[in-house]
Amino acid sequence: MNDNDYNKQMNKDTYSLRKRAMGFIYDMKEYGFILPRIRVRITNDDRHNVAGWGSDKSIWIAEKAVGMSDDFLRQLVAHELVHAVIDYKGHDERCGLMKSAIETPMNKKDCFKHLSKYIKLNLVD
Ligand SMILES: [Zn+2]
Repeated sequence: MNDNDYNKQMNKDTYSLRKRAMGFIYDMKEYGFILPRIRVRITNDDRHNVAGWGSDKSIWIAEKAVGMSDDFLRQLVAHELVHAVIDYKGHDERCGLMKSAIETPMNKKDCFKHLSKYIKLNLVD
């Protein structure tokens, strides 16, 4: 499998999934999180048996995340961003955001509170 296989051909569902994921990143930036330009890819590769992964300023969201709630997808995007932006390796089962699996998704407020432990916020104004 090479890198191109990660770039799933866009159909209506994957296009809208990618758009939702990018919307959450935009929302985080607007809130003040300092984020570089992030590549967002949708994949049907489920060999990791997870809903996504992230590294080197790229995040991959599995196709099976289509139909997940906003809270789930926001938390998934935030989790993968931590891997992708600060090169966070592994997981912290004591952290609601960086544990290995999403059980009950957090709301936006809690998600951003956890995210701010890893990603700097621009607190000007
Ligand atoms: Zn992870």
